[in-house]
Amino acid sequence: MAKRIEFSKTGDSDVLEWVDVEPVAPSAGEVRIANKAVGLNFIDIYVRTGLYPAPSMPSGLGTEGAGVVDSVGEGVTHLKVGDRVAYAQGPLGAYAELHTLPASKVVKLPDFIDFDTAAASMLKGLTVQYLLRQTYELKGGETILFHAAAGGVGSIACQWAKALGVKLIGTVSSQEKADLAMANGAWATINYTKENVVERVRELTNGEMCDVVYDSVGKDTWETSLDCLKPRALMVSFGNASGPVEGVNIGILNQKGALFVTRPSLNGYADTRERLEMMCQDFFAMIESGKLKIDVANRYPLKEAGNAQDALQSRKTTGSTILLP
Ligand code: NDP
Repeated sequence: MAKRIEFSKTGDSDVLEWVDVEPVAPSAGEVRIANKAVGLNFIDIYVRTGLYPAPSMPSGLGTEGAGVVDSVGEGVTHLKVGDRVAYAQGPLGAYAELHTLPASKVVKLPDFIDFDTAAASMLKGLTVQYLLRQTYELKGGETILFHAAAGGVGSIACQWAKALGVKLIGTVSSQEKADLAMANGAWATINYTKENVVERVRELTNGEMCDVVYDSVGKDTWETSLDCLKPRALMVSFGNASGPVEGVNIGILNQKGALFVTRPSLNGYADTRERLEMMCQDFFAMIESGKLKIDVANRYPLKEAGNAQDALQSRKTTGSTILLP
């Protein structure tokens, strides 16, 4: 038997149970991984609460982890038992000692990345890769607004933007978070619980406003975000930490300056093996170069995943959190 986190109904973190399960042998094209560390992501909370419905119940949870290949299904050629690997996609169930998933979603870890770093950064780092390098290909010199700049994704975005020569204005909810975002390379910060974001962006940019706004907060910030853009600029709505953006009248994009809007996801960008490998190469190179340092700020035993999710959901964490089996 092996242990995993499971839930049979959606709700608060107390729906999560630490249960014994029979390990699943990998089918053709799959591998089984003995997780050494598991990533905690806000998306896991959307799944637990039902915003992103799980395909069946009872369900596992989590899509990010790092560990050692423990068993290999038929036809898998790029991985063997004992390989050090990581993953950020695939079926729910990463919150587990053993996780079985398609080998096509699993990549070998270079020696310079340890398991904790990988679990803390695969999903968030690949997300920042597509946001800053693909959704809008930042070249340097642009000014962007990035919400929740001291969080897991935000901490990586601050460093990557700085490395690209981009001025990142980060929103945060406290002075401590502002200090962290600045230490990570933000050009300026705004405390969006106290300051008028649009006015501050106008001051900071001498009235020019932003080339791109990256908004993972959703409901609470949608309209403010649109008001921070230059004419014909891009709004990237990529998360729902405060609730989903709903009921949008598309005419608002015209009223606020012929704006563009996109709602991307990691699965929408890393949708083929080739694209996943290309994104990993770029992301791993950023770590190897030292331009990107992953802050494994919080560690919890995997069986206490509920407490870890509560801390993330109540805005108490900064940087990345990992769960240890
Ligand atoms: P974070 O560590 O960034 O935590 C979320 C942060 O959002 C909080 O720390 C908080 O920062 C801010 N926040 C603002 N309003 C709220 C609210 N009402 N409730 C809770 N938090 C709020 O999480 P992650 O790094 O895991 O993820 C960041 C975001 O990116 C999430 O929205 C996630 O869904 C999204 N995401 C999207 C992906 C995609 O491909 N589309 C992939 C990965 C992540 P503060 O206190 O400073 O406001």
